[in-house]
Amino acid sequence: MNLTTPIGQIAGIGPVFQKKLKKLGIKNIQDLLFHFPHRYEDFSNVTPISKIKFSENCCVQGKILEIETSRTWKKKIFITQAIVQDNTGAIKALWFNQPYLSKILKAGDSVYLAGKTSLDKQGVYLSNPAYEKLVEARLQPTHMGRIVPVYPETEGLSSRWLRNIIQPILINFRNSIPDLLPQKIIQENQLLPFSQAIWQIHFPDSPELANKAKERFSFEELFFIELWVLRERAKLSQEKANQVTLNLEIMQKLVKSLPFKLTDAQKKSAWAILKDLEKSRPMNRLLEGDVGSGKTVVAALAALNVIKAGYQAAFMAPTEILANQHFKTIWDILKNFNINVGLLTGKTDKFFSRKLKNDWIEVSRKKLLEKTLKGEMNLVIGTHALIQDKIKFGKLALVIVDEQHRFGVEQRARLLNVRRPTSNIPHLLSMTATPIPRTLALTLYGDLDLSLIDQLPKGRKKIITKIVSPEERRKTYDFIREEIKNGRQAFVICPRIESKALCEAGLHTTPSSWAGVKAVEEEYEKLSKEIFPDLSVAMLHGKMPGLEKERTMQNFKNKKIDILVSTSVVEVGVDVPNASVMMIEGADRFGLAQLHQFRGRVGRSIYQSYCFLLTDSPSGKTNLRLKALVNCENSFELAEKDLEIRGPGDFTGTRQWGIPDLIMGSLRNVFLVEKTRNAAKEILMQDPLLKNYPLFRERLSRFREKIHLE
Ligand code: ADP
Ligand code: MG
Repeated sequence: MNLTTPIGQIAGIGPVFQKKLKKLGIKNIQDLLFHFPHRYEDFSNVTPISKIKFSENCCVQGKILEIETSRTWKKKIFITQAIVQDNTGAIKALWFNQPYLSKILKAGDSVYLAGKTSLDKQGVYLSNPAYEKLVEARLQPTHMGRIVPVYPETEGLSSRWLRNIIQPILINFRNSIPDLLPQKIIQENQLLPFSQAIWQIHFPDSPELANKAKERFSFEELFFIELWVLRERAKLSQEKANQVTLNLEIMQKLVKSLPFKLTDAQKKSAWAILKDLEKSRPMNRLLEGDVGSGKTVVAALAALNVIKAGYQAAFMAPTEILANQHFKTIWDILKNFNINVGLLTGKTDKFFSRKLKNDWIEVSRKKLLEKTLKGEMNLVIGTHALIQDKIKFGKLALVIVDEQHRFGVEQRARLLNVRRPTSNIPHLLSMTATPIPRTLALTLYGDLDLSLIDQLPKGRKKIITKIVSPEERRKTYDFIREEIKNGRQAFVICPRIESKALCEAGLHTTPSSWAGVKAVEEEYEKLSKEIFPDLSVAMLHGKMPGLEKERTMQNFKNKKIDILVSTSVVEVGVDVPNASVMMIEGADRFGLAQLHQFRGRVGRSIYQSYCFLLTDSPSGKTNLRLKALVNCENSFELAEKDLEIRGPGDFTGTRQWGIPDLIMGSLRNVFLVEKTRNAAKEILMQDPLLKNYPLFRERLSRFREKIHLE
C-alpha cells in the first residue's frame, strides 16, 4: 500500500463507502490523509462522575457495571440502559433505538462516554452519549478523552467512521511520507515537520498543536501557490510579444469621438496598458474597476491601438449576452475607424461581420474563421468559443478577457496558445469588477500587473439599497410602477429556473429547499398577468435559445420592455443605463459578489437608482451579507467584508485553486503570505527550473491538474 492506493483496497471500505467518499473527492489514501477536519471537539477533559451537572456536555471514563436493552410497551422503542462507574461515583446512560449497543458494550468493559446530560426522576443521566470502548491494544482513544476531529461530512459518512479509517492509516504511513518542505524552510519558519503535522491536524494533543499543524499546512499550500505564480511569471517574461507602438494621434481621435470625458482613472489605466503593449515582453495586466466604472472603453482603446499597428485583437466575454452587447458597444465606439469586427459565439450558426459602411453583414462561420486566420478580421469578439483549437488568428497581438474571474486559469492559458503562425505570445488584458483585496492579489495574482479604476464617471448617484420584507412587497411594486411611469425600467432577478411544480414532483434534487423559490417562469406569469398587466414584461434565462435572448436584451435596451424578469444571466456586465430598479427575489440565496454584480446593473447613468433585496427572513443570520451590501457601496470594502464573513470564496475566484477550507482563512494573513513568497523566491533564485526539487515539480504538476479540472 502506498499513497496512491485506491481506497477500495483499505479494509472496511466497501463499494458503498467508496461511492460516498468519492462525493467528497476522496479516491486514494493520500486524499484521505488530506481530508482535514474543519473543526474539533474537545473531549480531552474527563469529568469525574461525581462532578457531573445537569445540562452539560461532558466526557466520562469508567467501567460498565451493567447494561441491558428493553422495549417500551406503548411506543415500541428500544431503550438501552447502562450504569457506568469511576472511582468517584456512578451514572446512568440511556440510548434510544440502538439495540445493537448491548452487543458491543458489555458489563466489565472500560469505556469513554461523551454527551449531554439530562434529568429524570432518578437524577442526572447521560442521554444518547457517544461511546468508545478502551481496547488495551490501542494506546490512545480515537473518539474520546482527547480533542477529536470533526470532518466535513456527507450523508452516511460520520466523523466517527472517518476517524476509525483515518487513524490506522496515519499510524501506518505518517513516517514514510516524505516532507515536501525542505528542512531549511521548516527550521527558518519554525514549522512542524510533516509527520508531526499530519498527526496533529487530525488528532491534536492540544489546541495549540492543532494551530501549529494548521499553520504548517497553510504555509505549505501558500508556498506552492507562490512558487507556481512566480514560476509562471518568470516563464512569461522569457516569452516574446509583438511590440505595438503607441499611436497617439489615433488614440486622441478616439477619445475625442466619445460622448463623454474619460475619468482620470480611465486615462491612467489606458496609459499603463498602452505602455505595456510597447514592450517585447507579453503584457499580463488585470484591470480592476467597480461595476460601471467604464472598463470597456479602456479595452477598446487598447484594441484599436493594436489594430492600427497591423495586428489583431480578441475579446472574450463570459456569456453570449455579454458578447453580443460588447459587439454592439465596441462597434459603436470604433465604427469610424475603418475596421472589421467579428462576433463569434457558441450556439448560433450565423456570424456577423461589420464592414465600414456602418452596417453589418452576416457571414458564415467558415468565412469568419478564414478571415480571422488571414488577419483580415481585426477584432473578434466572442464567448469561450473563441478559444477552441479550430480558431486560429493570423496576427493576434492582444487578448482581452472580460470579467476574468469567471474564467479558469486553464482558459487563460489556452487563450495564450491561440496564436499562429507567429511564435509570439499575445498581450493579455483581463478585466474584472470583482475586487480582489490586496493580500489576495499579491498571493494569487502575483503574476499580473494591476490597474485600478477606482473612480466612477461623474454624476453617478449612490444606489439606494434596501432589505425588503414580504409585507413590503406591495409597496415595492407600487414604487416600480412609479419609476416606469417616469420613463425608467426595472430588473427582477429570481434565483433558479426550476419551477415549483417540478420541485414538488421531486424532480429537483433538494425539493424542499427550492420549494419557496420564485422561479423565473412563475414570476413572469405573476408579474405580467397579475401585478403589471398594463406594462411590458419579458423574461430572460439561460435556457432560452441564443437569438431569443439577444432579441429580448435588445428590446430591453430599446425600451420596448419595461420590466425584465431574469435569472442570474444578467449578473455580469449587462449595460442598460436607463434601468433604475434592481429587485432581487430570495436575495439571501445569492453570494455577496453576485449581489453586488446585480446591483451594478443599475445606477449606470444620471438617474437615481434602487436595489431591493427581498428576503423572507429580514433579520436572519444569513442577512449579514445583505446588511453589508446596504452599508457598502464600494466593492473593495465589500470584498473585505465578505472575506470577514465567509473567508475568501467566490468573491475572489479562489475556489479554482482547490485550497482546502481549513486553510482558506490563512489567505488573509499578510504575514504568512509574505513569508511563503520569500521562501519561494529564494528557492527559484537558486534553482529556477527546480531541477533539484523533484517533489516540488511533482507537486506543482498535481496543482496544475487541480486547477485545470475546474
Ligand atoms: P464596466 O466597467 O462595468 O464594464 P462599462 O464599460 O459597461 O462598465 O461602462 C458603464 C457605462 O458607463 C457605459 O454606459 C459607458 O458608456 C459609460 N461610461 C464609461 N466611461 C464613462 C465616462 N468617463 N463618463 C461617463 N460615462 C461613461
Ligand atoms: Mg463590463
